[in-house]
Amino acid sequence: MPPPLTILHLDMDAFFAQVEQMRDPSLKGKPVCVGGIPGEDRSVVASASYEARKFGIRAAMPLRQAQKACPHAVFLRGHYKLYQEVSKRVVKILEDYSDRVQPSSIDESYVDITGVLKYWGGAEAIGRGIKKRVVDELRLTCSIGIAPTRTLAKICTDLNKPDGLTIIGPDDLERVIFPLPVEKIPGVGAKMKKSLNTIGIFTIGQLAGAPQEQMFKRFGVYGPQLQEIVRGQTNREVHTEDERPDEKSIGNSRTFGQDTADRELLRTYLLAIVQMVGRRVREADMAGRTVTLTIRYGDFHTLTARRSLPRLTSDENEIFRLAWKLFEERAMPGVPLRLLGVSLSGLVPKKTAQTDLFEKENKVFKAMDAIKDKFGEGVIGRSSTLGVKIKKGPGK
Ligand SMILES: [Mg+2]
Repeated sequence: MPPPLTILHLDMDAFFAQVEQMRDPSLKGKPVCVGGIPGEDRSVVASASYEARKFGIRAAMPLRQAQKACPHAVFLRGHYKLYQEVSKRVVKILEDYSDRVQPSSIDESYVDITGVLKYWGGAEAIGRGIKKRVVDELRLTCSIGIAPTRTLAKICTDLNKPDGLTIIGPDDLERVIFPLPVEKIPGVGAKMKKSLNTIGIFTIGQLAGAPQEQMFKRFGVYGPQLQEIVRGQTNREVHTEDERPDEKSIGNSRTFGQDTADRELLRTYLLAIVQMVGRRVREADMAGRTVTLTIRYGDFHTLTARRSLPRLTSDENEIFRLAWKLFEERAMPGVPLRLLGVSLSGLVPKKTAQTDLFEKENKVFKAMDAIKDKFGEGVIGRSSTLGVKIKKGPGK
């Protein structure tokens, strides 16, 4: 049994929307949706302020639907470069508390604070200290959960949002976590919830206490795994940037608001993900050869498929063609997916991968990236990408 850990999970509250409200104080207290302009962008809401959520608006909701739910909401395309900068500053604050910080997305991080608890005067002092610094320095609120494992810490964060701080120790599991419904477990979606409910499992406690054999019969290895996770018996460590096993890869993934089996939609999502990857690879001035596709089904079953291109590239068309091929070969038709991810590995600095062709295509993409930097992701790109319109300029 590994020694007990204390893991802190931080999640910025309604991140993009809150940054916009901080940027333009006239938006404070108003329903704000970031992701695009209804009628102009065929996109979804990327982030909704808490004022907008009161009208039922959620991330991943189509813009038109959001507008219908709240006609007076303010819709913005967003300032993604700014979000990245703010995100980096949050990570910097976390790194002042512990050197074991792992950002898991632009607005979430895990921090192993086990070794620094004494130094800072305990978990609560650390949680409060971080929250205060985020407010003082960035004028933003965040929610924090502190628990013995990563998953439990994330559940705690979600228990108390926005601006929350929730701390549990190993002894609080039964009292705080077990009464919660199973859908509070990160990643347990509607389908898994339904499957669990049909066999009489409604709470996390019921899941933790169910016979392992029954869980295995019903869900395969994933069943008992899930039980270990909610009992706090499985602890993935927090890995800092330089400890990651495959640091020479750049990837993005996307969890869908709702599981989907719609191939057209999945193709569009995949293209959007690949465009992000291509962009990051070019920003890093790298090129790579190996494309890895991650597919996660609604029931959490996850598979990865990997194949190499004939040459080094940072061209998203090439990456996409191979990623889609892998998808067509491996994804079970008609089975709803929960997440898609693509990464490019075997990366080398572009300097070592120079060819004329490489240079030429890079120039085109770099010009596109510059426009995106200035006016946001939604402005330019292939027309079939979700939320993307081809436009000559910034438009309005
Ligand atoms: Mg968040």
